[in-house]
Amino acid sequence: MHPGDTLTLLAPLSGPIVPIESVPDPVFADKVVGDGISIDPTSQTLLAPCDATVTQLHAARHAIILSAAGGVEILIHVGIDTVGLKGEGFTARVKQGDRVSAGQALIEFDADRLLRKAPSLLTQVILLSGDTSAIVERASGAASAGVSRLMTVSSRRKAGGDPAHASGAAEAGAPRPPRATVGVTSALVTVPNPHGLHARPAAVLASEARSFAADISVELAGRNANAKSVVGLLNLGAGPGAELRLVASGSEAARAVARLVELIRSGLGEDLSAAPAAPGPAAPSPAPAPRAATADDARRLHGVSAAPGLAIGPVCKIDPLAAPVEERGLDTEVELARLHRALTHTRHELKQLVAASGKRVEQAQIFSAHLSMLDDPEVITRTEVAIVEGKSAPFAWREAVMSSYRELARQWNPLLAARANDVRDVGGRALRHLVGGDDAQAVPAGSIVVAETLTPSEVVRLADQGAAGFVSVLGGTTSHAAILARSLGVPYLVDASAALLAAEAGGTAVLDALDAPNAGEAVLLLRPTEAELDGYRARLGARQVLRERQEAAAAERAVTRDGVRVAVLANIASADDARKAVRLGAEGVGLLRTELMFFDRAAAPTEAEQTAAYQEIADALGERPLVIRTLDVGGDKPLSYMPLPAEDNPLLGIRGLRIGALHPTILRSQLRAILSARVAGGHRVLLPMVAGIEELREAKQVLEEERRRAGSPPVELGVMVEVPSVAIQADRFAAEVDFFSIGTNDLTQYTLAMDRTHPRLASRQDALHPAVLRLIAATVQAARKHERHVGICGAVASDPDAVAVLLGLGVTELSVSVQAMPEVKARIRELDAEECRELARAAVDLGTAAEVRALLSPGARPG
Ligand code: PEP
Ligand code: MG
Repeated sequence: MHPGDTLTLLAPLSGPIVPIESVPDPVFADKVVGDGISIDPTSQTLLAPCDATVTQLHAARHAIILSAAGGVEILIHVGIDTVGLKGEGFTARVKQGDRVSAGQALIEFDADRLLRKAPSLLTQVILLSGDTSAIVERASGAASAGVSRLMTVSSRRKAGGDPAHASGAAEAGAPRPPRATVGVTSALVTVPNPHGLHARPAAVLASEARSFAADISVELAGRNANAKSVVGLLNLGAGPGAELRLVASGSEAARAVARLVELIRSGLGEDLSAAPAAPGPAAPSPAPAPRAATADDARRLHGVSAAPGLAIGPVCKIDPLAAPVEERGLDTEVELARLHRALTHTRHELKQLVAASGKRVEQAQIFSAHLSMLDDPEVITRTEVAIVEGKSAPFAWREAVMSSYRELARQWNPLLAARANDVRDVGGRALRHLVGGDDAQAVPAGSIVVAETLTPSEVVRLADQGAAGFVSVLGGTTSHAAILARSLGVPYLVDASAALLAAEAGGTAVLDALDAPNAGEAVLLLRPTEAELDGYRARLGARQVLRERQEAAAAERAVTRDGVRVAVLANIASADDARKAVRLGAEGVGLLRTELMFFDRAAAPTEAEQTAAYQEIADALGERPLVIRTLDVGGDKPLSYMPLPAEDNPLLGIRGLRIGALHPTILRSQLRAILSARVAGGHRVLLPMVAGIEELREAKQVLEEERRRAGSPPVELGVMVEVPSVAIQADRFAAEVDFFSIGTNDLTQYTLAMDRTHPRLASRQDALHPAVLRLIAATVQAARKHERHVGICGAVASDPDAVAVLLGLGVTELSVSVQAMPEVKARIRELDAEECRELARAAVDLGTAAEVRALLSPGARPG
């Protein structure tokens, strides 16, 4: 359209024409948005007023922006206050980007439904491009949809140039006339961030924008985005030096614009001096410490062995967004409530991750950005709209997340495209809360599963499906996911480089985690050569032969060469474990982790369910003893139906026995269930995470009350030695307990002050640290003095390299992962107890865990 040319807009609806000034909404009546005409509709299908392109279709489907010839932009807004309907009553017939012809159906609406919730159906047809065009003729009376003319628009020549150059003038700094949602317009503000408006600054901008009662948009080169939407902001693709303009309307518009401009100028929380000068791709999240890379290195992803073993198989990525979900929803209200409940849980989880990041600023920033993405109004509105249209909450959420993901992934800018992964990540996290554990993704048997992180229940489920190995970016060697992997005999590498997530799914890989946890490095070898594969297959075969030999002798007792008998029991979590443990030579169960039966459920198991579970385990054990530990959750084992207060340091907070004090009904019901089970070999109750004698006394009292009420015979009661205070006061505890079980996983964590789930500290969390060995020695001595029974149930007991030093410290009972039993027994049979004592004396005098490992290395160790 040339200056002076005209464009005719047909009526998009039938009905009486109403002057825009009479619309009962000042935003339209005062022409804040632009000049236009309103129709009081008698028809219910909105038609295109001219040939155009759909440049925006609001997520709530009540408004659409069309771009016609000559840069004419038209907003059609159906009804007043209809955005709050979140799409209810609207059906879009087109999508963003569609070319439409005059008279083509754009949106259908159900007038009756709209009028139940909205004050008016008045529909506004507004000319947004008021700076380059104007309404030169307007109709009055009645409009006939697709037939009668509503208005004529003419392009106008601006003083000093062709209108086609108007936007160029604005970019050069000339103030731009008001346009959609205008109230207050800022001057141009330059993005000072060296990487532009990437996820973290965008998240800061969006969350600040959300604190104002104003509609705020950010414009860049003729495009605009909702300032409250991180995804929208990222989609702008604002690189370093981009010139933005803020446009706001609403009661706090002026304050909002002033504050946001100041914030953008200051770098949106980024340290501008520390940042590199040139833009470059973002580090994948979360950013690991860089590792030296050579061409060959690109195939080798190093990490820490959390469960030893070797696996060869195809790479399979765990993607929570791939979980199967029902498309149809039950009921709008139910699905909306489900969505918001899941978002609340996800928010809580992310806040805990931010808090747990501590000084890892980079990681804390990433999770903060995820928090902001989670609350993205565009994604949430899209989800709500789909729910209102009958979709289930998980389906609607996944579609909304995926469409944001696709928008971002399309970006030419690698930095922004990389942010698409963050959207997927946070979307998947929320989807996990929406679907629960049972609907999760299945993997083909024999796969090496790679993931950013794995939960304990995922490990169990995936191992059940036949996963041959696990590799994750996050996670520690004594995390519960690692413990379970060990007990299931599935090798697990943690602390892999985040480059792992880019590994090609389906390609063959070798997971070499042959060293015991902490004893060396583990490697995931991608794209192995034929020669490498042959080498690994040979090693796999040799391991198999050795394993068969050890299993054949598993039922025999474990006695050292000089005749010291060592009891080898099993750590288990289920009746299946118990049966397998018996097959592999367990002399009993030294640790039943009861928490596993509390996970992945909507509510705690009933007393009857628990009794039945304990009974099944007891029956599998026959005459063998059973140590049942009371519920040990909290810390790295949250329970979804038992919301625990968000804590800055969850591992130092309400966990283990402390939860029993907070939720006494859960503890009492569990104790009653334990007392009701008949255990032929005798059952003992074990208390987790005890730090002080008063906690023991309280629990003892509760057990005694329940025992009396049930009329059961006395039960042996023991404490886990997991907190240094218990080891240090072991002589005092010995006077009040029947037995000790040393939990070296937590004992190491609390002695060395290293979070057991911390990926960066995984390699330094070694229970063979001399400080931990001294605490074990102190406990064993106190137990002996008071003639109390003592065993070790932490992961170090399953480490064949560690067995000698543990025996040398005087330990005669090891409770080990089911899978490790045959090998541990075989190792004991190789040892001489006197040599072990000498070794232990030397070990406790060393300075570091590495020195102890060196002392125990195959060349140096006894046996
Ligand atoms: C331990 O802390 O060593 C232990 C056995 O308990 P868990 O690993 O279950 O915390
Ligand atoms: Mg523990």
